[in-house]
Amino acid sequence: MARPIIHHRTPEFSAVLDSARERMRPLFGTRQEVLLLAASGSGAMEAAVTNLLAPGEAAIFVNGGKFGERWGKLLAAHGMTGHEVKVEWGRAVRPEQIHEALRAHPESRAVFMQASETSTCAIHPVNEIAAITRRGEALLVVDGITSVGVFEQKMDEWGVDAFLTGSQKALMLPPGLAMIALSDRALQRTARNRTPRFYFDLNRELKAQRDEHTTAWTPAVSLIFGLNKSLELIHGETLPRVYERHRVMAEATRAAAPALGLKPIAPASPAPGVTGLLVPEGIDSGKIVRMMRDELGVSVQGGQDQMKGRLVRIGHMGYLGPFDMLTAVSALEIALARMGHRFAAGAGVAAVQERIARSV
Ligand SMILES: *Cc1c(COP(=O)(O)O)cnc(C)c1O
Repeated sequence: MARPIIHHRTPEFSAVLDSARERMRPLFGTRQEVLLLAASGSGAMEAAVTNLLAPGEAAIFVNGGKFGERWGKLLAAHGMTGHEVKVEWGRAVRPEQIHEALRAHPESRAVFMQASETSTCAIHPVNEIAAITRRGEALLVVDGITSVGVFEQKMDEWGVDAFLTGSQKALMLPPGLAMIALSDRALQRTARNRTPRFYFDLNRELKAQRDEHTTAWTPAVSLIFGLNKSLELIHGETLPRVYERHRVMAEATRAAAPALGLKPIAPASPAPGVTGLLVPEGIDSGKIVRMMRDELGVSVQGGQDQMKGRLVRIGHMGYLGPFDMLTAVSALEIALARMGHRFAAGAGVAAVQERIARSV
C-alpha cells in the first residue's frame, strides 16, 4: 500500500483489481461478481438499499442493535417503508419472526439483516432466514461486516441475494473500501430498478468491473493493492485455518468470562469476531475501556446506547492470534481489579491459556 500510486486505467491496475475481486469470492461463498466500492461499509449498505428498492416500496429489517437500526434509517432516508423486526440486544433473530413479518407485510420487497451484529456481539442465523426468503419474492440482503473473513459464509448455497462487507474489520485493512456481491435475481432487480442513483449505481459498476476490468469511478487504488495482499495472506493461511483461528480466539475469550465473574451479553449466539462481556453492577465499562487503552495500551471497545457503561467488547478478528487474547484478558483483569472487582487474579488468563493449549 505504500507503493507509489499507479494510474487506474492501466493493465497493471486491472490485473490487481481482477485478482482482488476473484480472491474475495470464497470469503462470501459465491461464484457471483464481487464489486468493490470506494466507501466505508455503510456505502455498500446504502448501495444495496438504492439498487434493490424504489421509494415508496416496503422492506423488513432486523433491528437487534446499532447496525440493524442503520438499515431502518437508510430505508427511511430514501423514502422507503421499513417494517422493523425488533430483537433484544444480545439475542439472535428467530426465523419465525421473519416468517411472521413477511406474512404481516407481504408487499415487502426485501429483508435486511446483519450476519453478526457487532454492537451486541451476537450472530443471526442467515442460513435459516435465507431458507425462508428464497421461497418468496423478497430478497435477502446481509451486512456481512465482522462475518465475512471471520467464519464460513455460503452466499450461493444459502440463497443470500446481496452480501456486503468492508475493508477495516476482518480484512485487516484501513477503512475506505466496501465489497458487495449480488445474486442473479438481485441483479435482475437492480437492472430494472428506476431509483435515482449515480455514484453507487451497481449496474454501471458491474459493467465496469466485470466487462472493462476497471471501476466506474476513480478507485481507492492503495486499498485495492492492500486488499489483494491481505487476501493473499488469508488464502495462504487457508480459509479453514483462518476460521479455526477465529473460533479459538472467540472460545478462549469467552472462557475468561466465568473465571472473572462476568456474564456474556450474547450467551446463546455469540459472534465469532467479537466478544461482549457485561461488567459487574457499580463499575463503569467506559472507565475500564479508557484505563485499558490509556494506561495499559490495550484497545477494546465499550457499549453503545443502552449498553453504554455496561459492556466491554473485545474484538478478535483479522490480524490477531489466540495469544493476543492472553494480553487482552490480562489487561482486562488488571483494570477490573483496580476498579474494585474481586476475583482470583490470573483466573481469566488461565482460562484463555487452557483453551489455547487444547487447540495446538
Ligand atoms: C463496522 C460495521 C458497520 C459500519 O461500517 P462503516 O464501515 O463504519 O460504514 C456496519 N455493519 C456492521 C455489522 C459493522 O460491524
